[in-house]
Parts: sequence; structure tokens; C-alpha cells
Amino acid sequence: MHAQPLTAARRSLVAAELPAPHPGPAQLLIAVRACAVCRTDLHVVDGELGDPKLPLIPGHEIIGTVVEKGEAAERFAIGDRVGVPWLGWTCGICEYCRVGQENLCDRARFTGYQIDGGYAELTVADERYCFAIDPHYGDVEAAPLMCAGLIGYRTLRMAGDARLVGIYGFGAAAHIVAQVARHQGRRFFAFTRPGDVSAQDFARSLGAEWVGDSTAPPPEPLDAALIFAPVGALVPAALAATRKGGAVVCGGIHMSDIPSFPYRILWEERAVRSVANLTRRDAEEFLALAPDAGVRTQTVTYPLAEANRALDDLRRGALQGAAVLVP
Ligand SMILES: [Zn+2]
Ligand SMILES: [Zn+2]
Repeated sequence: MHAQPLTAARRSLVAAELPAPHPGPAQLLIAVRACAVCRTDLHVVDGELGDPKLPLIPGHEIIGTVVEKGEAAERFAIGDRVGVPWLGWTCGICEYCRVGQENLCDRARFTGYQIDGGYAELTVADERYCFAIDPHYGDVEAAPLMCAGLIGYRTLRMAGDARLVGIYGFGAAAHIVAQVARHQGRRFFAFTRPGDVSAQDFARSLGAEWVGDSTAPPPEPLDAALIFAPVGALVPAALAATRKGGAVVCGGIHMSDIPSFPYRILWEERAVRSVANLTRRDAEEFLALAPDAGVRTQTVTYPLAEANRALDDLRRGALQGAAVLVP
């Protein structure tokens, strides 16, 4: 099969012909139809996340068709369409798994990081972490739901019942979260890199009531801020924009260092928290909600062989919506 593996961090992906993987007893062999490119892939390729499996086939926003099953796999039939997310395996017995926090499992393994992912024509996945995809969505359109959508949804949920949400970094996750927020009757403001007019127009087209530079104060205080850009300096900026008792939720897996800030911007019961990974419950809830909420994704497609170009475009912030690789 064709694949685009990473052989060493801080190097480009290298096209390769690899043997087809075989499904283990509880695994599915999946013909990849589309795989979205996540900022986390960029952090892995750029060496900002330690300890990827090497060589590694990245990619954890996979949509594909079941072509073979392990002897114990029973949740899906040959020919079914499934989605595969970042969470690829959990132990089921640690103190986190036992209380519904499998996203924090001590031994969790992640797709496209410790498990080969979807930058390939074929992949295998544990069937317990595969999900049916609503027929409303085409393969390419569905791919960004599997991480940008799921993690974005979990991030929004951590904002509680905030009515006015500020979204920092208007990329793949933000454009999905914005649609869910509006469906839930929330208002949102969008904060972008200073002067990024195209991202600001994109946010406005999705219903942002106000758009501006991430350094600018909003016209009214936020009930909660969601940060999707990997920029630590946004944390104090977002705290300063958030009302008393509000929360700043960091949705990314990696962020540059957070600069020190005066205690008075945290004071008055403001909170800062992060979101890590996802649970299967998040996936089930969000994948049911997305078609009801009328969530549509905006995508830019690339042939699998041009995975490096997709990563470069994401690195440069040149994308509106999500990059998706098609084998
Ligand atoms: Zn566990
Ligand atoms: Zn991701």
C-alpha cells in the first residue's frame, strides 16, 4: 500500500510502499477514503510531542470502509463506513478508565502517534474505538469531525453554560465549534492573529458577532474563552477578556510557554484549564449532534502523496477549514 510515514522527527514525510497491515482479533482492516490533517500531526512531525512510534504513519481523523475483520470483531460488517479518532486504545482498568475518564488513561495509546494512522491506503483499528458516520456526510467532509469536531466539542462542553464564548484561533476546530455553539443558542466572538483578515471574514461568515485581533479587548467581557491556537501568550490575553467567574479552556495538546501574568487577571474566580484527548462518549454524543446541528465542514483536499504540502499549508496558517488527504 502507499503510505506517507514519518521516519524521524523534524523531517518531511517520505512516500513508501509498505505491506498491508493485518487486523488483530478485535481489529478492523480499513480502506482509507479520507484522512484530515490535524495540528497535532504537525506537532508530532515537528518534534514538539515526544515519543512517537517510529517509523510512524500519522493521521487520526480517518474515514474509511471495513474490508476485513479480526475473528473477534463483531461491531461492524464488511463494507461499513467507520471513523477512527485520536483515542486508539485504553486499558479499561486504571483509576481513570474505571470512572469514565478514559481520555486520561495511564496507558492510553493514540492513533497516528503510538498506533499507525491514516496517511495510507489501509489502516487497522481496534473496533471499540471506531464509530459509524452519519450518511449526511461525504467521506472528505466527515474526516475533520473525528478530531477538530470531537476535541472542539469537548472544549466547548468545558465552558459549561457560558452564553458568550470567545474563540481564539479560527481554524479547523473553531469553525466546527462555532456552528455547534450557535445551534446551542450561544453567541460567539472570534479572535485571530493580528491582521488576519481572511480568518476574520471566515469567522464572520459562520456567525461571529464580533471579530478582532487576539490582542484586542472585546466589546464586552466573555463568559468563557476557548483557545485553539498553540500560543501560550493567549492565556493571559483571554483571562483579561473574561468576566468574573469565567473560564479559559485550552483545547490543544501542545502550547508554547505561558508568560507570567498578574494575579489580578485570575482573581475573582476565573479558571484556566486544559482539555486532553476524548472519550468514546464524547464521540458518540458529538457524532449524533453534528447532523442535527447542521454542522458542515469546510475542507481543502490534497492527494495522499502531497501530505507534506498539506502540513506546510497548515504550518503557515494558510487554510480556512481543514486539510484532508485522499488516497
Ligand atoms: Zn486506563
Ligand atoms: Zn487531532
